[in-house]
Amino acid sequence: MMCTLGLVGAAMGAAPEHFQPRAKELLADSIELVESEHQLNVVYFVGNDCEPIEGYERRISELLLHLQQYYGKEMARNGLGNRSFGLVLKENGNVNIHLVRGTKPHKDYPYGGGHNACLSEVNAYLDAVPGRRTSQHTFVIMPTHYDEEYNDLNPGGVPFYGLGTNCFALDYKYFDIQHWGQKTHKGRLLTKWYGGFAHELGHGLNLPHNLGTKSDNEALGTAMMGAGNYTFGFSSTYLTLASCRILAHSETFAPKGTKTEFYTRMQPPVVKNAECRRVGDKLELYVETDSSVADVNAYVQDPPYQVNRDYDAVPFACTMNRTKPETCSASLSIPLAELGELKNHKGGEMGLDLLFITNEGSRFRWRVTFDLDKLPENASIEMGTPILHRGY
Ligand code: ZN
Repeated sequence: MMCTLGLVGAAMGAAPEHFQPRAKELLADSIELVESEHQLNVVYFVGNDCEPIEGYERRISELLLHLQQYYGKEMARNGLGNRSFGLVLKENGNVNIHLVRGTKPHKDYPYGGGHNACLSEVNAYLDAVPGRRTSQHTFVIMPTHYDEEYNDLNPGGVPFYGLGTNCFALDYKYFDIQHWGQKTHKGRLLTKWYGGFAHELGHGLNLPHNLGTKSDNEALGTAMMGAGNYTFGFSSTYLTLASCRILAHSETFAPKGTKTEFYTRMQPPVVKNAECRRVGDKLELYVETDSSVADVNAYVQDPPYQVNRDYDAVPFACTMNRTKPETCSASLSIPLAELGELKNHKGGEMGLDLLFITNEGSRFRWRVTFDLDKLPENASIEMGTPILHRGY
């Protein structure tokens, strides 16, 4: 029997009996999570010449349940409720992890491009039995390679990235929450790979990179979708409000009994009006859209803008108003001081990306470029005709 509760039991003094003491200690201050309508598919994928690494069900269950709490607490801190990605649990309290055995040897699913062959087999497995797939989001975990380069103390060789609604992470013998936060080789290794696990899962749940505003970074530490994968466990690591606004419309965060259809919209929303003006030490943004838009995030960054060059994007979440039946409006004040190091950028072009998040979770991005130094007081950024691209 499976259950889909965020966690079994409310205040969660009771982690499953077979969990290790450190996991029980970390789960002892769990919050009660809202039950989810859709759950993340968790897959452990091995080549046809490999076996899973010993204890993977317990180890990965502990790590995932702790991460589910982390995401839930960050959503709550950002005022979006005790919501996290849903997981299917087994009766013994472990996460239901699908063990999928590939048709090819493990070397045929390498870091470089191995995700395609893996995903086609994973998708065939998930779709073979009605009800087995519990959402469009799939987290694939593969054991490290063992060769002259990789081993349990230097894991790697397998896909490790987010790709649309899928993401990949790895397993190794010491991938165990008992090492979390310890200043040992295994502790540092765990921060690297568990932080990476948490960060890649963010991508798989729809999140783009972002760095955090200056004051958020000062108060809260490092943004998980910036460099947080290197700090998770050692110093304060947080999800920005902009990230949490996206998660609030992500499929596996939907509370039970709510939406059933996600990401069906292909047509971009209609931008009815958009302006951005420099007023003193701020940019003042105002956007009006059709009513399909739930939230708008703004990201300011310097070029280049492409994925993996965008860790420095500083996010701002708009305040949404729905004053007219068919129209949503968003207003936002961007204090230039919040741009932190970006403010010291040596002049020239900068990007202002507006990310429109629709009610059914799709994201559409509109990039406007401007030159801050050539923008006098009260001048407006030339916004041009909105061109919205679907995706992150
Ligand atoms: Zn990333």
